[in-house]
Amino acid sequence: MEVFELMASMGHERVYFCSSPETGLEAIIAVHSSVLGPGLGGVRMWPYASREEALVDVLRLSRGMTYKAAAAGLNLGGGKAVLIGDPKRHKSEELLRCFGRYVESLGGLYITAEDVGTDMDDMEQIRHETRWVTGVSPENGGGGDPSPVTAFGVLQAIEAAVEWRFGSDSLAGRSVAVQGLGSVGFHLASYLRDAGAHVFGTDLDAEACEIAQRELGVEIVPPAEILAVECDILAPCALGAVINDETLPVLRCQVVAGAANNQLADDEIHGQALQDRGILYAPDFVGNAGGLINVYNELVGYNRERALRMARGIRRNMTRVFEIARAESISTIAAAHRVAEQRIARVRSLRPQHWVRSIRNGR
Ligand code: NAD
Repeated sequence: MEVFELMASMGHERVYFCSSPETGLEAIIAVHSSVLGPGLGGVRMWPYASREEALVDVLRLSRGMTYKAAAAGLNLGGGKAVLIGDPKRHKSEELLRCFGRYVESLGGLYITAEDVGTDMDDMEQIRHETRWVTGVSPENGGGGDPSPVTAFGVLQAIEAAVEWRFGSDSLAGRSVAVQGLGSVGFHLASYLRDAGAHVFGTDLDAEACEIAQRELGVEIVPPAEILAVECDILAPCALGAVINDETLPVLRCQVVAGAANNQLADDEIHGQALQDRGILYAPDFVGNAGGLINVYNELVGYNRERALRMARGIRRNMTRVFEIARAESISTIAAAHRVAEQRIARVRSLRPQHWVRSIRNGR
């Protein structure tokens, strides 16, 4: 499929191709929507097998950011960038700064952040060339590692789901299976333990398991068994597409609510399948918006308390999604899409757009 067809099929506004043979930079920046504000989304560096694969990835990821920001009620659109190359071999100061210049040339339409293959140090390099970068160090006004805020947001999503499913938001005595005890999973397990839940956990990394067991009392199970653990809540915090045709029959949970992006292999099919099995799904992009909320806060002067306060709003957003799903007899993922799309449609009807000013004013 050619690029304009792809853009049209996913509803993208703009795609920028950036090339600099001197620095080795080959990048694509996609702005899916700028209706609600500038497209904020991380820059991923990955050794894509082809430029087409990189293009499809950036289009898919930037569209996902539009939904995440819209559902979180942020004044942000959806954007994402990819750098084609192996971060271990091809990343350099000049490549990152060159990318920063491209970002700067867009005048704030796209704001970058860290993603797979890039980190806070890279954002510092990019920052030499543009102010349209987030995820920088606390010394430079950034929010540092967003994972604790993401985990706090996921906790809100879990509490909203537990209240909806069981009639009380208390996690005392509830059991939660956390798949992936990395940055977010570990912090989430800590919050869950503090709330009185029994936490099962797993990770491919034996050391991560050991630390979670020792420091948080997490009951470790083998990676291959976590999805089949009998529990109240399954919290995917590792990979995407964990809910698929193969895994659905083994699930023994009442709720799926976690941090991983794109947990359903197919939103339509598996969202409905979970519902048919009586399992409540807390849509990932609503529940894991804490990381985006955290970097958004950098644009208005970072303040951890405000970031956590905003992440608390995930609970209300999630409950709204459940209410719509029930009222409309649709899956929760379909309801989440509807919430995002309706907000965008409402704001689109307002002219002119004042998003840059709104962001500077912290609204
Ligand atoms: P991470 O890399 O720190 O942790 C992921 C962990 O999952 C790793 O320890 C890895 O060993 C483990 N893992 C991978 N495959 C596994 C498997 N099959 N079984 C068990 N464990 C497995 O990543 P993270 O920052 O904690 O993010 C976790 C998920 O949440 C990712 O999908 C990420 O995209 C999503 N997310 C993260 C943030 C954030 O703020 N970090 C924000 C939004 C969404």
